[in-house]
Amino acid sequence: MGNCIFCRIVAGEIKAKVVYEDDDVIAFEDIRPQAPVHMLIIPRRHIERVNDLKEEDERLIGHLVLVAKKIAAEKKIAESGYRLVLNCNRDSGQEVFHIHLHLLGGRRMSWPPG
Ligand code: AMP
Ligand code: ZN
Repeated sequence: MGNCIFCRIVAGEIKAKVVYEDDDVIAFEDIRPQAPVHMLIIPRRHIERVNDLKEEDERLIGHLVLVAKKIAAEKKIAESGYRLVLNCNRDSGQEVFHIHLHLLGGRRMSWPPG
């Protein structure tokens, strides 16, 4: 946890372009955007991966989605559409082991994902 880059963003030790924050989550711009809108919504609390979620985290994980929805509306991509992604472990390409919900939009995306 001490070296977790997202915990350091939560603590204000590493700068990020924060677009939303409340008691439980913060959202900021991805440093290597893969779409015109690319935000990460994260819990303030360090949870490494989706595999580590517990029953009592149900409200928190739902909150991440509702915050993403709110940001999508603010960024004017609610109608054109967007994608929400939670990567878990190696095959997904998870690089940062502090749960983060990707909000991607502002361009047409393909399916299936690569
Ligand atoms: P994932 O592959 O799901 O673990 O995605 C990690 C994401 O975090 C990538 O899209 C990175 O570009 C992003 N990222 C890594 N470091 C930072 C940082 N300091 N500020 C903002 N985004 C970051
Ligand atoms: Zn962390």
